[in-house]
Amino acid sequence: EVLRPTPESDAELAFEGALRPQSLAEFVGQQKVRRQLQLLLEAAGLQNRTPDHILLAGPPGLGKTTLAMIVAHEGRRPLRMTSGPAIQHAGDLAAVLSSLVPGEVLFIDEIHRMARSAEEMLYLAMEDFRVDIMVGKGAGATSIPLELAPFTLVGATTRSGLLPNPLRDRFGFTAHLEFYEPEELHQVLVRAARLLTLAIDEDALAEIARRSRGTPRIANRLLRRVRDYALVHGGAADRTAVRAALELYDVDEQGLDRLDRAVLAAIVERFDGGPVGLSTLAVSVGEEAETIEAVVEPFLVRTGLLSRTPRGRVATARAWAHLGHPPRPTGAD
Ligand code: ATP
Repeated sequence: EVLRPTPESDAELAFEGALRPQSLAEFVGQQKVRRQLQLLLEAAGLQNRTPDHILLAGPPGLGKTTLAMIVAHEGRRPLRMTSGPAIQHAGDLAAVLSSLVPGEVLFIDEIHRMARSAEEMLYLAMEDFRVDIMVGKGAGATSIPLELAPFTLVGATTRSGLLPNPLRDRFGFTAHLEFYEPEELHQVLVRAARLLTLAIDEDALAEIARRSRGTPRIANRLLRRVRDYALVHGGAADRTAVRAALELYDVDEQGLDRLDRAVLAAIVERFDGGPVGLSTLAVSVGEEAETIEAVVEPFLVRTGLLSRTPRGRVATARAWAHLGHPPRPTGAD
């Protein structure tokens, strides 16, 4: 699935890498977060200490990895990258932590998926730059304290609600990343087109920006598909090319993709508009509940197509209209 916000090929990854802003000044949008980070980094710089630990929360593709790289780059610090799923045992984390150099930035993507045993080790490491390594088993087991180099942890999560409180509390700052406005995505695209030396109309960029689900990664991908389209059809990268390319890849007028529409259609057509529980909904569209919750729903909620109620998910009147159905007969919403 080309337009899902998970990198799926080396070419896409190289493309993303080339477009990553390297400084806060180049980073488009998220103005509040940028100022918050700026202050934190500057203060640490003035006192020549490692910046506090930072948690980045929000849906995929909004720039969490990019911000982690910027934190390292702006402070001229080395960066180590790993992810929650790669940390299955406390030992995996101990190996990473004990090999950090002073001042290193440790980025843990999907930190909510780390093993529980590792979480506890991380508390101590974040607080005291120390871990206790367990040696031996049973009655003879002892723990040996190990000093760590001071480091800055940058954790990223699409599900900050899943983080245990003791872990959340140990971050000096939590940045909540929001979906981008079309004007901001337009800026992202102008920059990308320039870096790719791609000739494309302003109004074509505006159209891509409007239909990119508020997500820079998707905007950059759609730009690439439009470029492909213009290349293959020998035409200009203009609004007509955008319309045709986006139709081909199942991106609709509002930027919804196939899964977004499948979720809405299931609620409306199979569950009479809801409320329907997350797991039932996930089964009915054949997708992981976690994907629905972390990727699909935030955007549908933000565009006013779906609401979350204590009894389950409900399609709004706007969703019925978007799918081309007459309004729901009896007073829903
Ligand atoms: P995930 O959580 O899935 O790793 P992410 O939130 O870390 O996603 P990134 O990988 O940082 O997202 O960003 C995806 C792409 O979007 C990158 O290629 C980056 O260049 C671009 N991008 C993200 N945010 C911005 C921004 N504010 N300005 C310009 N480009 C951006």
